[in-house]
Amino acid sequence: MINSIKILYDPKVDEKEVQAISTVIEEIYQIEVASSTIFKIKKAAYNKKRKQYNGQKLLNELIDEENLEFFFWIIKDDIYVPVMNFVFGLATQFCGAIVSFYRLESLEMKIKESVHECGHILGLGHCTNLCVMQYSHNLQEAIEKPSSLCSECENKIKENKRNFEPNKD
Ligand SMILES: [Zn+2]
Ligand SMILES: [Zn+2]
Repeated sequence: MINSIKILYDPKVDEKEVQAISTVIEEIYQIEVASSTIFKIKKAAYNKKRKQYNGQKLLNELIDEENLEFFFWIIKDDIYVPVMNFVFGLATQFCGAIVSFYRLESLEMKIKESVHECGHILGLGHCTNLCVMQYSHNLQEAIEKPSSLCSECENKIKENKRNFEPNKD
C-alpha cells in the first residue's frame, strides 16, 4: 500500500505554490501529502561550466541521505542530466522525484509537471494517450499536453497503490 507522499522544497520556492501543488496531488492521486518540509539544494551537485545542477546527483543524494520512501522535491534552479541540455524533472519509480521550476513560469505549468513526476513516483511510465504522463521533448509539448491522467494511467495508479509492498530486509 502507498498512503502518502512527502513534499520537500527549496527555500527559494514560494510556499503558496507548494500548497497549491499538494492540494492538486491529493485530489488527482487520492493520496495524503505529508506536511511539506524545507530542504536546501546541495552545492556539490552544481556544474560551474553548465551553470546548472546535476539532477541525477541531487536525486541520488536524497535517496541515500534521507531514506525517504515517497518523496517529491521542488527546486527553483535549473537541472540537467548528462545526455540532455535540461530537464523539467526526473524520478525514480516507487521512490522519489525532483521537479525544477526554473523553466516553468505559470503555476499551471508547475502543477502539471509536478503531477507528471508524481505519476512516476507512483510507478507510471510515459504514456502515448492524451495524458499528463506524455513525454515532453520541449516546453511547447509540455504546454500542450493535458494536465490530467488518462483512464489507463488512472487504473494503473489504483493498482500500484494497492499492490505496493515495501522491501523488507
Ligand atoms: Zn516523465
Ligand atoms: Zn496515460
